[in-house]
Amino acid sequence: MTDAVQVQEYDWSGYRGVLIYVEQREGRAKPVSWQLLGQGRRLADKLHTHLMAVVIGGQIEHLAKDAVAYGADRVYICEAPELRDYRTRPYSRLMMQLIEEVKPEIVLFGATATGRDLAGAIATHLPTGLTADTTELDVEPDPSRLLLASRPAFSEKMMATILCKQYRPQMATARAGVFEALPRDNQRSGEVLRLESRMGEDDIAAKVLDFVRDQTSVNLEEAEVIVAGGRGLGGPDAFRLLEELAEAMGGVVGASRAAVDAGWIGHEHQVGQTGYTVRPKLYFAIGISGAVQHTVGMSNAELIIAINKDKEAPIFQFAHYGIVGDLFQIVPALTEEVKRR
Ligand code: FAD
Repeated sequence: MTDAVQVQEYDWSGYRGVLIYVEQREGRAKPVSWQLLGQGRRLADKLHTHLMAVVIGGQIEHLAKDAVAYGADRVYICEAPELRDYRTRPYSRLMMQLIEEVKPEIVLFGATATGRDLAGAIATHLPTGLTADTTELDVEPDPSRLLLASRPAFSEKMMATILCKQYRPQMATARAGVFEALPRDNQRSGEVLRLESRMGEDDIAAKVLDFVRDQTSVNLEEAEVIVAGGRGLGGPDAFRLLEELAEAMGGVVGASRAAVDAGWIGHEHQVGQTGYTVRPKLYFAIGISGAVQHTVGMSNAELIIAINKDKEAPIFQFAHYGIVGDLFQIVPALTEEVKRR
């Protein structure tokens, strides 16, 4: 794949280290940040270099300790009341300032709404590229030290590996749930440095007055239990059965694309290649056949339980436990049993 790679003529030797943007909201880091630190650690070790993290926000000092516990060697903190809410301009200015000062060879962001916005804004100002929405990240060792950023392409039919041969830093956003965070290690030690902002008044001109939470939204990426349903449910009403089971288990409801396309449930519930990639502790696949476009989004779940009336359904190849039978009988019985315990 990379036989054709040539060592570039530019001297990027001053650029070293992997930098992870730790995304937070109200002082809580998004899990994708720790997943990226895990992958960043693997890349940094392969390149024999250091792993850095950056946290920007209002009251975020505690996150520096977390970033070290999840693998960072050095954490840059930029804390100020006016940085409490994410806005493109001040955050991207700070990131560019940091990149200029620290010269990382690789910078990674979660492919969240914020991560996509921020990485895109930075890439338009730096003479470098950005690979969006990656699902695989690897590196070539010396001398090229190239980031091999892979993502689905051509209507998700093939994987493309995108290289940034000419410039540094090499930047990518990565999907949540794809990479594994390292186990938290509170004994790890790391350096914490303050990033002094060089922002002017103009950079923080836009003010956030209020956040209105969408009460109907579902957070699949952070859910520990997902009860997902597919075409086998036969219509929107059967999702009520799944909601009851999810409620009893403290989880949320997911869906296959077939169920979403049929209009039985909103797209924010969709798991898979064109939906969310999830990594819950427990995933129920109910009336879902197990098409590859679905399983790429959920096969990293710790425990998968499939319920399907077809014993040959491909989902059983991924499931740790399988129940062959009619979901309309099994799900209510399961909910009853969970409630009873
Ligand atoms: P089906 O494949 O129709 O399976 C329904 C299952 O329900 C069957 O296995 C059946 O045995 C079972 N069943 C029926 N009745 C019962 C019952 N009473 N009790 C128990 N079991 C029952 N799909 C996704 O999910 N997510 C994606 O992000 C996604 N992205 C895609 C992107 C592209 C480019 C393409 C081409 C496809 C994508 N798909 C995606 C669609 C995917 O290929 C499948 O079509 C889809 O996942 C099938 O959904 P399903 O399993 O619910 O339906």
